[in-house]
Amino acid sequence: MKRYKLMIPGPVDVPDEVLQAMIARSLPHYGDDWMEIYGETLQALHKVFGTQGDLFIMPGPGSAASEAALNSMLAPGEKVLLPVSGFFSERLGRIARACGSEVIVLETTWGEPVQPERVAEALERDHEIKAVALIHHETSTGVLNPLREIAQVTHEHGLPIIVDGISSIGGVPLPVDEWGIEVCISVANKCLEAAPGLGMISVNERAWQVMDAKKDKIHGWYLNLNVWREYSHDWDWHPYPTTVPTHLIMGLHASLQGILAEGLEARYARYQRTADKVRAGLREMGFEMLVAPEYACPLITAMKGRPGVALDALSRFLRDEHGILVAGGIGPLRGQILRVGHMGRALTDEYSQAFLTAVEDFLKRNPS
Ligand SMILES: *Cc1c(COP(=O)(O)O)cnc(C)c1O
Repeated sequence: MKRYKLMIPGPVDVPDEVLQAMIARSLPHYGDDWMEIYGETLQALHKVFGTQGDLFIMPGPGSAASEAALNSMLAPGEKVLLPVSGFFSERLGRIARACGSEVIVLETTWGEPVQPERVAEALERDHEIKAVALIHHETSTGVLNPLREIAQVTHEHGLPIIVDGISSIGGVPLPVDEWGIEVCISVANKCLEAAPGLGMISVNERAWQVMDAKKDKIHGWYLNLNVWREYSHDWDWHPYPTTVPTHLIMGLHASLQGILAEGLEARYARYQRTADKVRAGLREMGFEMLVAPEYACPLITAMKGRPGVALDALSRFLRDEHGILVAGGIGPLRGQILRVGHMGRALTDEYSQAFLTAVEDFLKRNPS
């Protein structure tokens, strides 16, 4: 199988230490040896999330964690305000509707940030709304939404906010306790540089109060945070309701040790430097970015085409001639942009330089 450099917006190429950690003998998902590894993993995650509240590792994709959060925080029929500005916010709406919520959509142009004032207006218009759900980094466009301000507006209206930090936690600041985020979701296979298959959910005290008040109306068992809380408190065998993938968690354990050894601030700065370098290099070659610099998330770069350059040809060339995988646009942005990920090994100079060299090579071989 050909080895590609993954510069897609997840899953990411993981460090060697993470691969090594997963080549291990099977352990039961309980017992002292395992609980030590599990406990250290959870402790490291608390640091990355910036929370002393409850935190669960929920095996499954990010969407399962999102479904658990929405399903647990909203009783069927309740209204949730959802700013939609890309593929992943649309997806969150589908999940919420499937759980029985009434979704009040706040449309924002793809490629632009959600404005806190518009969230405030929407909440003032409709007093039946019970929560706000927001994507922090809309990975289909590369916009980083002003979460802190939106959380503040939400809290001023006495409501909880449910945040999809799937492609932002570990890459840009998202201090869960400091910003008072009631429920925050992430996954292992983006900025946390581990293998796919693990979601995470943080839950604060206010979120539990919300859930307590509607506990009897919540359907489901696995995707129900009340069940996870029950097992983490009352079950002496292991603090989760099911078997967990021990190998994946051992990989996550290794990646988190690496991330914390470097330091979160140092990593955030390195992401910004890498994104700045890639964008400057692309601009020099005549490309423009989709997102204005003030809102461009440093974790992916969404580049637009330029006259004489077909993006699908560029993408194929990167793959076939340089072994680099990037992603295209989704929905209305199909054919309009390429999305270049900076997460995982793509954060290294090796990858970012290889990408710029490859684009240069393409332009040289395809003069317009
Ligand atoms: C990747 C991503 C998801 C989807 O995650 P899955 O693990 O595929 O379910 C959801 N939201 C955002 C913002 C993402 O970047």
